[in-house]
Amino acid sequence: MKIIVQKFGGTSVTSNEKRNMAINKVIAAAERGYSPVVVVSAMGREGDPYATDTLLSLVNSKDNHMAKREVDLLMCCGEIISAVVMAEDFAQRGYEARVLTGGNAGIITNANFGDASVISVEAKRILHVLEQGLIPIVTGFQGMTEDGDYTTLGRGGSDITGALLGKALKAESIEIYTDVDGIMTADPNIVPNAKIIDEMSYNEVFQLADQGAKVVHPRAVEYALAGNIPLIIKNTVSDAPGTVITNSRGQAENSITGITSMVNKTQVIINFCDNGCNTCNDIFELLAKKDINIDLVNVFPGQEVFIVDSADTYAVENILKQLCIDYRIINNCSKVSLIGNTMRGMTEVMSKLLKTLECNNVNVLQTSNSRTTIWCLIKEADNRKALNELHNVFFCAS
Ligand code: ADP
Ligand code: MG
Repeated sequence: MKIIVQKFGGTSVTSNEKRNMAINKVIAAAERGYSPVVVVSAMGREGDPYATDTLLSLVNSKDNHMAKREVDLLMCCGEIISAVVMAEDFAQRGYEARVLTGGNAGIITNANFGDASVISVEAKRILHVLEQGLIPIVTGFQGMTEDGDYTTLGRGGSDITGALLGKALKAESIEIYTDVDGIMTADPNIVPNAKIIDEMSYNEVFQLADQGAKVVHPRAVEYALAGNIPLIIKNTVSDAPGTVITNSRGQAENSITGITSMVNKTQVIINFCDNGCNTCNDIFELLAKKDINIDLVNVFPGQEVFIVDSADTYAVENILKQLCIDYRIINNCSKVSLIGNTMRGMTEVMSKLLKTLECNNVNVLQTSNSRTTIWCLIKEADNRKALNELHNVFFCAS
């Protein structure tokens, strides 16, 4: 059996017309001799009646009393509704589908509600449905604990379901259908000039996704890589070939693949009277105890700089006050990432980046780099301008 996993995101299942276009993709795959396994997200985005955020808004008032277990149960409803409606659409076109929840599909997770980790995937029920000649429609974003509780895999988690099942079923490929023609050099909503990338390596996509490009979930890329299964990002409403992600893409050196950003970051600058080693360790220990992630960490004699998610700012300030530490905070920052294959001799890229930002009066608060990525922290208000200008310089210069 040649299995293909086809995952359809929220905007791909939001209307009857879109669902029929999604179904066209499934039928086309079946006609090419594949056994399709369909994964669906909840219908639409915030504001749409059955979208995850809309369901959440039913209970997430200003005092959030709900236990995470019950919130997960509520969030799971979105994908269940979507899958059942899709099954009805298949039926109307003469195809019989079978709806499977994450648990039915054999996705067993721990009980970390809201962001559960997958323990195992036992896909025999999906195989049984395929053997019966039916189309399995699996509710994305969901798993089940060994005790039978519904769990969710974290926001954007339907991509994870698609990739997990692709790996477990040793699929020929995993197709992620969304509302853009593939992965682009930048988010087209921020950079209108962004261009489609035809081929990418798992590592490049992982970096891009992990640093904010929400077109695909980074954990989905990890599962596809672990199974060495081609991951293809496509548009439900077009015939564009999409972005093909494998390991066999030519590894051109010094090529910049894409640019992305993450907003809602806070920079924390700490000054110590002495060289600060012990206090520095105390701070990190206390932050770890509170589960606060820090990023872009630079420790110098007498000074320490790092960034946190804005949501953690209050907790960080409390810790610093408790330790009587002299600190300064810069709110509303954006972490911009320039991602490449192997940026050997980083100097040229870094100089081009800094020059571009300086020419456009964008203040650089911090930078860092690895073999494949340059990060730079700027004010959120400069984000759109910085991304567009950097994109012009790195992707549009002839
Ligand atoms: P879905 O509901 O199909 O999962 P998402 O909203 O999660 O869709 O992902 C698709 C969106 O990702 C696009 O509409 C686009 O705005 C955004 N996006 C961010 N970065 C990129 C990028 N580099 N390339 C393409 N799309 C991107
Ligand atoms: Mg998504």
